[in-house]
Amino acid sequence: MSIEEEFGVKIVAESAMCPICGKDTVVVSKREHMGGDLEGVTEIFNQCRSCSYCASDVFPSAGGEPKRYTFRVRSSKDLDVRIVKSSTATVHIPELGVDIEPGPASKGYITNVQGVLERVKDAIHMARSWETTDEGKARCDEKLASIDAIIDGNSFTPFRLILEDIFGNCIIIAKQAKAAALSPEEVDRIVTRG
Ligand SMILES: [Zn+2]
Repeated sequence: MSIEEEFGVKIVAESAMCPICGKDTVVVSKREHMGGDLEGVTEIFNQCRSCSYCASDVFPSAGGEPKRYTFRVRSSKDLDVRIVKSSTATVHIPELGVDIEPGPASKGYITNVQGVLERVKDAIHMARSWETTDEGKARCDEKLASIDAIIDGNSFTPFRLILEDIFGNCIIIAKQAKAAALSPEEVDRIVTRG
């Protein structure tokens, strides 16, 4: 059985144009989830055979309407809660002072709460390297230490994980997660900020 068959990944195009090198060598593949928690979620992967370009995104069948998901992470057990995070999602963790806006290189993926925290750490490391002041670097170090304490379970403090997506392509798969429509004003605010 090929890797493609084993993981349900199907190639849908083999010569799409690469936005980086311009050659027609991007392989587009997709995986459609049937059944279970991820029912109706389609993952799309783009990989260029000529350069290092790769991209991915997720499209739940219920997507389309601007949406905000709020999930209160109460214990280490909640770190396993599954997340469908689109390339267009903004990640907010108010308790940790984290706000990560989507950029052109943002990827969509399926992960869990811990996976989101790991990627938040990557973003803070990046931001830290741009900081020019000791205060700025110290603020980043503080956030990194808080996240490590949560992941290690050494000193777990509850926090809210909030995903906002004007295309509604995010899901937090937990009964306690609350989904709400974004108002037109909120959508305007997100669009003008991004
Ligand atoms: Zn390329």
